[in-house]
Amino acid sequence: MANVLYDALFRPHEGSDATFLILPDGRTVSYGAFLKTAGRFAHALRASGVGVGDRVAVQVKKSPEALALYAACVAAGAIFLPLNTAYTAAEVEYFVTDAQARALVCDSGAASALKPVAEGAGARLLTLDADGSGTLSDLAAGQPGSFDAVERGPDDLAAFLYTSGTTGRSKGAMLTHDNLLSNAVSLVDYWRFTGEDVLLHALPIFHTHGLFVGTNIMLLVGGRMIFLPGPDVDALIAHLPQATAMMGVPTFYTRLLADPRLTKDLVAHMRVFISGSAPLLAETHVEFETRTGHRILERYGMTETNMNTSNPYEGERRAGTVGFPLPGVELRICDPETGSQVPQGEIGVIEVKGRNVFKGYWGMPEKTAAEFRADGFFITGDLARIDEDGYVHIVGRAKDLIISGGYNIYPKEVELALDEEEGVLESAVIGVPHPDFGEGVVGVVVPRAGARLDEERLRASLGGKLARFKQPKRIFVVDELPRNTMGKVQKNALRDRFKDIFK
Ligand code: ATP
Ligand code: MG
Repeated sequence: MANVLYDALFRPHEGSDATFLILPDGRTVSYGAFLKTAGRFAHALRASGVGVGDRVAVQVKKSPEALALYAACVAAGAIFLPLNTAYTAAEVEYFVTDAQARALVCDSGAASALKPVAEGAGARLLTLDADGSGTLSDLAAGQPGSFDAVERGPDDLAAFLYTSGTTGRSKGAMLTHDNLLSNAVSLVDYWRFTGEDVLLHALPIFHTHGLFVGTNIMLLVGGRMIFLPGPDVDALIAHLPQATAMMGVPTFYTRLLADPRLTKDLVAHMRVFISGSAPLLAETHVEFETRTGHRILERYGMTETNMNTSNPYEGERRAGTVGFPLPGVELRICDPETGSQVPQGEIGVIEVKGRNVFKGYWGMPEKTAAEFRADGFFITGDLARIDEDGYVHIVGRAKDLIISGGYNIYPKEVELALDEEEGVLESAVIGVPHPDFGEGVVGVVVPRAGARLDEERLRASLGGKLARFKQPKRIFVVDELPRNTMGKVQKNALRDRFKDIFK
């Protein structure tokens, strides 16, 4: 029977002795062994009452078995719903209830806290630990290693992926087999992945970046992944020599740059470094090239759309941009209010259409309707402009746009000005309530190691660089910016922290 995603990503590797995963201790997992585990898990899910179209919520540590559970869900026609390992039981309760999950798979350490959650939601509770043990594996142990993948067409759902919750409550993006497969096919070609590639995989597998971008690409080409639990810099440096490619969020790159062991020699053999999920500072791009000779390839995507744009593999990778729309992705820049396309070079909201774009937000028909135009374009909420050569420059999120005294202020422009100041490592610019201006511009800066920053000096210096209405009315020095697991700056947290300063 045809199963779109299973047939493309998994079936070709059944019985193969080729290595799929390389673990930190040097152990390897072959494709064949991985798929046997997946087959047993698929039987175990079925035995637990999980039917076609049922949601399987999964909050487990990164492991080969956790990834096999993804394959098992695809084979069984269940909807894979991975959850951030940092979520508390109360947060998990929201997702499991919202998605009406049929099963909840968690770490045994969390089982007692999640038992009432599963019971309340009517979900079967199973456990899976980082070492592969747990009640799911116990149930799977007696099952056959092969499973007849159920029939699934291109429009059938493969996953619910909740957005990162950077701008508000996470939304469940419904992703189809074709959404995932079409994007993986496109990326393999665009980034020139082959079965010879070894991907250094240090990203979480509950987010689109590590799960769909990284893993689906490698499954499609039959390559290997060095499967690390996280982006520990010692581990990255130890394993880079065996890799040909790395995908990371910008913090991977800043951490590597902070380490003197990152040298040209260490990465001379690497084919490509890819960055995404949060903006890579142009400065990081330049520093990385100076140090290693590699130009990081930055791309832009979202949970809802998979990947939308990418810098080219050959051709100029332009720092501070996310490149061009991927083949098959239609992209336009529109006026957020009217929806009409803005003139070339002007800022507006990115709208995209293509096989990569999701089916809608689970249980939120009104929200879904509001985020799509009548002609099928999805309104991303990211603001950008396209330069004269066609490169997309993201300037921030519409929700972070500051309106002060009736003027629009794009935080990125002010952040770039702040970042140029001596002693500034990085910055975030936000708007907070202001009695006269509606919102007042606030800068939050992190000093470089050993540097001392002075608010008055910074404000005076910006006075010469930015129009008065863009200048921060206050600048605060902090040790670090609040970031989530994907390296995204949590501006909501900053706005909350500084919300009363003009009152
Ligand atoms: P939520 O939608 O719940 O607020 P989120 O948007 O952070 O959370 P994700 O889907 O993980 O959740 O992230 C997608 C967003 O990440 C994009 O809309 C964009 O703002 C940002 N992003 C991704 N890649 C890049 C990039 N290369 N440069 C700048 N921003 C990026
Ligand atoms: Mg979002």
